[in-house]
Amino acid sequence: VSFKLITNGEDAPYLRIEGAQVPLLIKRSTRARRLRLKIRYPCAVEVTLPNALSLKKALTFVMEQGPWITQNIQKLAPVIKVAPGNLIPVLGEPHEIIHQPKARGTVWREEGQIFVTGERPHVSRRVKDWSHQQLKILLRQMCDQFAEQLDVSVGRITVRDQKSRWGSCSSKGNLNFSWRLYLMPEYVISYVAAHEVSHLRYMDHSPQFWATVAEICPQMETAKAWLKKNGSSVHMYDTTN
Ligand SMILES: [Zn+2]
Repeated sequence: VSFKLITNGEDAPYLRIEGAQVPLLIKRSTRARRLRLKIRYPCAVEVTLPNALSLKKALTFVMEQGPWITQNIQKLAPVIKVAPGNLIPVLGEPHEIIHQPKARGTVWREEGQIFVTGERPHVSRRVKDWSHQQLKILLRQMCDQFAEQLDVSVGRITVRDQKSRWGSCSSKGNLNFSWRLYLMPEYVISYVAAHEVSHLRYMDHSPQFWATVAEICPQMETAKAWLKKNGSSVHMYDTTN
């Protein structure tokens, strides 16, 4: 990936990432204590600069943060609508959304395609509702199997539109998951399920906890690496109309 900071005389400095021109917004602040970076939707980088520091310091900082900027701007920039003709991943595989207003049924999946019936404005909501249902069925199977292995019992499973975490676990044994897991490969979903079910035994991230996850989920490390590298990419699919 090529990352360049362009500063030529009169023009405001900007970034060139993989050939694309990305504005660099420099914000001076009397309150800021240190340099801060933010990716601004849909495609700009903002650096907050404490008043006492020079512009040169800010630009050096931006250069040092090149890998972080590149990684995060690529995740954010393309916002893909869940709409007919677009591709969205289902269980990690790209699927084209095909609108069939006259067909019977609601939503179904066939080799790389998702068919959606009904009126056009409802397509994205229908795909999302369908993903919720499918994921819930899959997670129920996965969690019950892990629970049996660990001799614990899983309460309610809820699939939600939560941005901050892939999964969470309540003290009563109820598990919550983000519907966006359905966009990820199945082994990653399985890891998130194993992680949450293991919390029914250890409510912490102690070495015993991780040993338990690894025991029931041999692909733990690969799945964690996938999430670290690609996890936030599932947020670029927009289900609003
Ligand atoms: Zn955890």
